[in-house]
Amino acid sequence: MSSQKISLNPIGFVNSPYKQKFGIPRQANLVSAGVGSIELNEEHTDINCLRGIEQFSHLWVVFLFHATANRGWSATVKPPRLGGKEKVGVFSSRAPFRPNPIGISAVEYIKHQEYDGKILITIRGLDLLDGTPVLDLKPYIAYADSLPDASGGYAAEKPNDDLFVEFAKAVEKQFTLHKANYPNLKELITQVLTLDPRPAWKIKSQDDKQYGMTLYNFNVNFRIEKNKIRVTSLLPE
Ligand code: SAH
Repeated sequence: MSSQKISLNPIGFVNSPYKQKFGIPRQANLVSAGVGSIELNEEHTDINCLRGIEQFSHLWVVFLFHATANRGWSATVKPPRLGGKEKVGVFSSRAPFRPNPIGISAVEYIKHQEYDGKILITIRGLDLLDGTPVLDLKPYIAYADSLPDASGGYAAEKPNDDLFVEFAKAVEKQFTLHKANYPNLKELITQVLTLDPRPAWKIKSQDDKQYGMTLYNFNVNFRIEKNKIRVTSLLPE
C-alpha cells in the first residue's frame, strides 16, 4: 500500500498538574497523587459517549505526544531504565519519539461531570503533560489487558521509588498556606521526587546542580544531597 496521510480530531485535552516535561513520571500509575482531568471537546464528543463508563475503574487514554511531535524520531532510543546508555529499537520502547507520536496510558477513572458547559473526566495516576490532545478513550478490561505472566524485558520491575525526600522549613510553610486549594501538593512532590526525575545519565555522577520543575503553578526547586533529595524552595508562579 502506498503511503497515506491520516488526520484525526482530538476528542479532548488533558488538564494536568505536570506543566513541563521534566518531572512527569515515566509511566502511568507510578504517582497516585497525580490527579488531572480530560476535558472533552463538544465538537467531537458528547456526554452520551461516556454512558456506562463509571462501571470501569480504569481507562486507556490514547494521546498525542504533542510537545515533542515535531522533534522527529530515530530507529533506536536509550531508555532511562537502561541508564540512558544502551540502545533498543523504538518499537521496543515507550519513548515519545516515534514515527507516529502516539502514547497510551491506563489511568484510574474517578468520576465525570458536566461543569460550566464542559464535560470533565477526573483521572488519577496520569503521566501526561498539561494540554495533551486525547485521541481516544477505552475501558481497561482486566481479563484481556492484564497479563501477569508477560515478560517485561528491561522494564520488568517498577522503577525504584525509595529516594528520601526532605523539605526546607519555608517549604513546609507553603504547604500549610496552600492546603485548602492543593491538599495533596506535598504528597505529589514527594512521589514525583522519590522516582528521581533526573535524566538517567546524571544519576550516578556527583551532582551539585539546583533543579527546578513546575507542578500546578508552583516552582519546585531541589537538589541532591548524598542519597536524598532536599526541596529548597516552593514558590507560586
Ligand atoms: N504511558 C505512555 C507514555 C510513556 S512516556 C506510553 O507508554 O505510551 C512518558 C513520558 O512522556 C513522560 O515522562 C513525559 O515526559 C512525556 N509526555 C507526556 N505527555 C506528553 C506530551 N503531550 N508531549 C510530549 N511528551 C509527553
